[in-house]
Amino acid sequence: MKTVRAMVLVSSDPQSLLNGAEQVYQQLQSEIAAFGLEDEVSLKMVGDIGRHDAVPMVIIYPEAVIYGPVKPEDVHHLVEEHLYKGRVAAELQAPVRELSGRIAWLSARKGTLPAEKRVVLRRAGIIDPTSIEEYIIHDGYSALGTVLGEMQPSQVIDVVKKSGLRGRGGAGFPTGTKWGFVAGTKSEKKYVVCNADESEPGTFKDRLILEGDPHSILEAMAIAGYSVGADEGFIYVRGEYTLAQERLHHAITQAEEMGFLGENIFGTGFNFKIHIHSGAGAYICGEETALIESIEGKPGLPRSRPPFPTTHGLWGKPTLVNNVETLANVPPIIQYGPEWYGTLGTPSSPGTKVYTIMGHVNKTGVIEVPMGITLREVIAIYAGGMKPGSSFKLAQTGGSSGSVIPASLQDTPMDFDAYSRAGVSLGSGALLICDEDTCVVDLGRVLINFFRNESCGKCSPCRIGTQRSYEIMESIANGNAKLEDLQTLINLADSMNEVSNCGLGQTAGTPIRDILKYFRAEVEAHIRLHVCPTGVCEIKIPV
Ligand code: SF4
Repeated sequence: MKTVRAMVLVSSDPQSLLNGAEQVYQQLQSEIAAFGLEDEVSLKMVGDIGRHDAVPMVIIYPEAVIYGPVKPEDVHHLVEEHLYKGRVAAELQAPVRELSGRIAWLSARKGTLPAEKRVVLRRAGIIDPTSIEEYIIHDGYSALGTVLGEMQPSQVIDVVKKSGLRGRGGAGFPTGTKWGFVAGTKSEKKYVVCNADESEPGTFKDRLILEGDPHSILEAMAIAGYSVGADEGFIYVRGEYTLAQERLHHAITQAEEMGFLGENIFGTGFNFKIHIHSGAGAYICGEETALIESIEGKPGLPRSRPPFPTTHGLWGKPTLVNNVETLANVPPIIQYGPEWYGTLGTPSSPGTKVYTIMGHVNKTGVIEVPMGITLREVIAIYAGGMKPGSSFKLAQTGGSSGSVIPASLQDTPMDFDAYSRAGVSLGSGALLICDEDTCVVDLGRVLINFFRNESCGKCSPCRIGTQRSYEIMESIANGNAKLEDLQTLINLADSMNEVSNCGLGQTAGTPIRDILKYFRAEVEAHIRLHVCPTGVCEIKIPV
């Protein structure tokens, strides 16, 4: 009988694959065979493990020692030392000394780090994402079984409502309420759409879920379909996410073969089919009505609302649109109950949040923590502090459309309502941490340039407002602006927010408005003194 004593995981996110993860995996296979260890060692490729500074990584359990970046020529020594002789190959360990070379979440479980809590990422980096058997062993499809076997659709919606789950795409709308709207609309045909068009710069949390645990999204969509009365679903995946698409296609085939998708699931008479739709690179297609137009084969232009997709969505039928991270919360809520979910996070924003950390910090990557943690904690604990010699100036949350958070708000709990009360927004989960050498004028100019390029041009407040705002930011950076231009910027941000047709225009002015609120003196220095305090902008002093 085969007795596995060690498990070897190889990271297979796009960066790892680019750096030779496949070759490392093949070399591990042949070296494990050469040492006669095939019956004792289980080897597999897993998704993103949350650190990108030393990939491809190889993690060996049960010791949870992380090696990286591992090259094919390192493998013989690694197998001989660790797997054959039982000694850690210290010279190949990943540079994560503060964690004793052990993966962060494992240390957290041992109490050496505060509460990182993995709910939606609990299987990512642990299971082989191409194996439905491993998903099933780790409780996969059991929530769907419970729902189809023991619950009425309305009961499922009640559980989701009771859990307090709110949309993780950025808006924070109550998920159960949205499900109730679709369920309550009478129609012979309804759809479920998973929004996986993750295009906010710096946001890649949904990609990690799709690559590391694709079946969890299929299971959640089937649960949603049963609850709202839909028999067909679409996953709209960002075009650049080729690995995620590949794994989703593979997972759908497996799930259909095993009867978890398709006709008469679990013999209950419930049918549910899922299609993949690849995006073509337009940021605006992350907006739910533009996404729907795109699936229908039209240009991805947002629709005017109302009516909302919950009543008039895909091909005019009631459609539930949920973000990847939102859906990934559903199976564990069914499995462990809404009361359990309520023990995580804050009363008004239960559960966890996945953040991607970037910028001038010591450690970038991904974390999943309970809602309500503060920015100061994220930087100090998970990001390992600011880079040597630098200090915190601001953070931008949620990609380009998010808020600019000054140091004075570092201790505000990061949940939907506390941030809203503070006048800022949480956004989709990207945290760009900037030090004191960051120029707010330059930052604002780069962000509004993004919106100027991505505006679909359908409505004039956004089309003209983003262009005019960019021109003013450019003139501030060049030292050619007047003080009254700042009021024009605020007016533009307000009118874009009030009368733009969709979320892109409504939020395009947010970063600039925040910059003028929290860093006005620095902006004015460019105008009054013709000085960029950080030395980033090349100001031409007028003669
Ligand atoms: Fe297009 Fe901007 Fe109007 Fe949205 S707000 S519809 S992106 S022009």
